[in-house]
Amino acid sequence: MTPLIELRGIRKRYGGGDRPLVEVLHGIDLRIHSGEFVAIVGASGSGKSTLMNLIGCLDRPSEGSYRFAGQDVADFDADRLAWLRREAFGFVFQGYHLIATESARENVEIPALYAGVPETERRHRATALLDRLGLASRQDNRPNQLSGGQQQRVSIARALMNGGRIILADEPTGALDSHSGAEVMLLLRELAAAGHTVILITHDRDVAAQAERVIEIHDGNITRDSGPSTPSTALPLPTLDPLEQRGASLRDDLAEAMRTAWRAMRVNRGRTGLTLLGIVIGVASVILMLAIGEGARQRVIDQMGSMGTTIMYLGSKVPKTGGPVGMISDDDLDAVRALPDIRRVMPVIGDPILVRHGNVERTIYVFAGGEEMTDIFRWPVARGRFFTGRENDELAPVVVVGNKAYQQFFPGVADPIGRHLLIGNAPFEVIGVMSSRGSDGWGQNYDDMVFIPYRAGRARVYRTQTQPDYSVIDVVSADVVDEAEAAVGTLLSERHGREDVAIGNAAARIKAEMQTREAMTMMLSLIAAVSLVVGGIGVMNVMLMTVRERTREIGIRMATGARQRDIQRQFLSEAVLIALTGGLIGVGSGLAIGFALLLWEIPVVFSLTAILGAFGCAIATGLVFGWLPARQASRLDPVRALSGE
Ligand code: ADP
Ligand code: MG
Repeated sequence: MTPLIELRGIRKRYGGGDRPLVEVLHGIDLRIHSGEFVAIVGASGSGKSTLMNLIGCLDRPSEGSYRFAGQDVADFDADRLAWLRREAFGFVFQGYHLIATESARENVEIPALYAGVPETERRHRATALLDRLGLASRQDNRPNQLSGGQQQRVSIARALMNGGRIILADEPTGALDSHSGAEVMLLLRELAAAGHTVILITHDRDVAAQAERVIEIHDGNITRDSGPSTPSTALPLPTLDPLEQRGASLRDDLAEAMRTAWRAMRVNRGRTGLTLLGIVIGVASVILMLAIGEGARQRVIDQMGSMGTTIMYLGSKVPKTGGPVGMISDDDLDAVRALPDIRRVMPVIGDPILVRHGNVERTIYVFAGGEEMTDIFRWPVARGRFFTGRENDELAPVVVVGNKAYQQFFPGVADPIGRHLLIGNAPFEVIGVMSSRGSDGWGQNYDDMVFIPYRAGRARVYRTQTQPDYSVIDVVSADVVDEAEAAVGTLLSERHGREDVAIGNAAARIKAEMQTREAMTMMLSLIAAVSLVVGGIGVMNVMLMTVRERTREIGIRMATGARQRDIQRQFLSEAVLIALTGGLIGVGSGLAIGFALLLWEIPVVFSLTAILGAFGCAIATGLVFGWLPARQASRLDPVRALSGE
């Protein structure tokens, strides 16, 4: 009959490189058959644990061959070894090795989780096992809420979770009082009687004597073997079919990863919070910067709509060559009007003037312009009417008041039409009220002003003024603004014989402003993106720390059958969960701050693309920066991880 375990010439050396090379096992030959109850006994340091780790495929020998059920284990890859640990072996350690943050039942469930057993069945089986081991009422206790004996029984339940055909117990009673120890030994004897192969390691001869076969080990050599026993029953081995290595399903694996991740995050709340902060700030600022940038852009576009992209401002200046400031005469304006592509030319005088009505007295901006103003500024009258060209020509003393000016001069007056305002010292009759325009970002508030005809203004208010403050030139279409600007410039230079006029091209200015704002948005978003990366580095830092802190847990998971990819997935999920949480909070706070800004009347336009993009980036950050720590965790050596190195 093929032995279950067959060791030939097994040697194990530690060290090498810059550390001294020590050989711990010096050529072990050993055969154990299915169903045997074997005790390996020896003094402390004789190599028992090393031998058990080799048998349990937690470690590989330096030399010699290990055949498991006739197959050379040296040919097995990491996944297959994990499969063997999961399906064939069940470990019971002196220090119990339970995961501290998980309940008794969850600890017992772990091997089944990695075997891909569905949750309900897993739970059912764990409960039944705990029940059988007398721990029914302790299922939800965490290891630190259990006595040593109870913890050891939980670890036996865990060893049996996937069948536990071969129980490898390393000093299972070493840390227990004699009563609990006796209980554990009774359990092991029962399991052996039920057909489980039990390999018990102990330094205690009395304990060893309870096994059917006793093997003595001394300084890495087997010195005595009571010889193979003939077991009455033996459990069948799981079939070593590679196709059956299904392992944990992705869904269960992720669910488990999320659960442990959530727990780890809660345990280290402060640290997690700080790490989250990086991601939160990154995501929130990306969203906000883009929203503010978009808000500013939209406002400029609105302005272009209201001010028109076809408007230029003409004023006079002192020429570069020196001499007096330019004079723009009415004839000049007529000549400009005659140019092709020019639709309207409106001279404007505007200055703060003392205006009175009854006992209200205010110095406000009095705008003297043409009847074309409402068309040029695309700004309708709310009540009454605007003055006409004829009234302008006839120097009619009429005034149209802005919406705020109306409220200031005529509080409580339902209809101000027909009333009079004293502008300077000249009385003007109110004929209309403008609709509300609001501040349009040029620092002027048109609603505060009053509007009078240009000629009446020159005749009655601005009597000393020899030329308009500026003239508004409206061009037929936005496409010809630049050409028209050049044509007006050339015309007036020719007429004046020197360059003494200045033309402000509003369309060009708006365009330039838009470009500046876009560049600014770009820069701020870049800075925000950088802070996201910094957040990602924070995640990596925390994950690296987590891997270090939880080395033992990783070892336990590996000993109970987790594959490298299970461990990798778990730690990657944790990183992604942190990033995801940070991303969600970031989106939330970005939106909240944005809405607060809206209340302050700062234009903010959220874009779904930006929100999803920032959120996606956060998750990608988790994936990218979580990858290295996760890989590090999955590459840990099970034996070293178990010892917490
Ligand atoms: P036992 O379980 O019988 O007490 P071990 O198998 O744990 O003994 O250890 C046997 C010997 O191997 C001891 O001398 C120990 O110091 C040494 N040893 C165990 N693990 C390592 C290791 N990772 N590196 C170096 N020496 C080790
Ligand atoms: Mg030991």
